Amino acid sequence: MPKKTNYYNIYNIPKEVNLFGHAIKVVFVEDLAQDNGFTGLADYNKGTIYIQPGCGKFKRTKESVQTTFCHEVLHFILKFLGFVELTDDEEFVQLLALAIHQIFF
Ligand SMILES: [Zn+2]
Repeated sequence: MPKKTNYYNIYNIPKEVNLFGHAIKVVFVEDLAQDNGFTGLADYNKGTIYIQPGCGKFKRTKESVQTTFCHEVLHFILKFLGFVELTDDEEFVQLLALAIHQIFF
């Protein structure tokens, strides 16, 4: 069995975050971008954040991966707070993610 890369350690990202009583899982998917064309996904139904890590097939900077994490968490925050229009505003979410990243990473 090949050893699985511990992306949580590499990027200093938790396996799970608790938000307003919801446990949200964080899952790294090495083929996410290749299969779907995006580097992160907030799946509200599954309570899961999917992130494309930097790996052999797909080069990413550490900052880029961490910002994706912030971005997807923000989607959940805005959704839980009832800001439906803001959570669909990708530019707004991304700018906020870049700001949050500066503080927490
Ligand atoms: Zn988004």
